[in-house]
Amino acid sequence: MRFLTIPELQKSVLEFYVSRGWTRERVPLRSRILHLLEEAGELAGVVKYAEHNEFASADFEAELADVVLLAVACANEQGVDLGEIVWRKLRNNKRKYPAARGAE
Ligand SMILES: [Mg+2]
Repeated sequence: MRFLTIPELQKSVLEFYVSRGWTRERVPLRSRILHLLEEAGELAGVVKYAEHNEFASADFEAELADVVLLAVACANEQGVDLGEIVWRKLRNNKRKYPAARGAE
């Protein structure tokens, strides 16, 4: 199993998009965001009628990966360091939602 760092992931996704001509000049950010929402809908579809988290994990993983890939593509298009913004947001969320006593 190969594990990617976030910068490696961003670079791989960028190479995938550029090699197919899906550049920011040809595909507007609006289209990528709509595609991201479409993939999020597909992810929701996997679990929509699931009882007690019983659903095909392969389907869940595939749709979750689609969501992440589209999010990475959006970050790339905007020149955003995904690791930095996610870390910053997590730090803010820790302040906003303090851990319950004894849970940390
Ligand atoms: Mg999908």
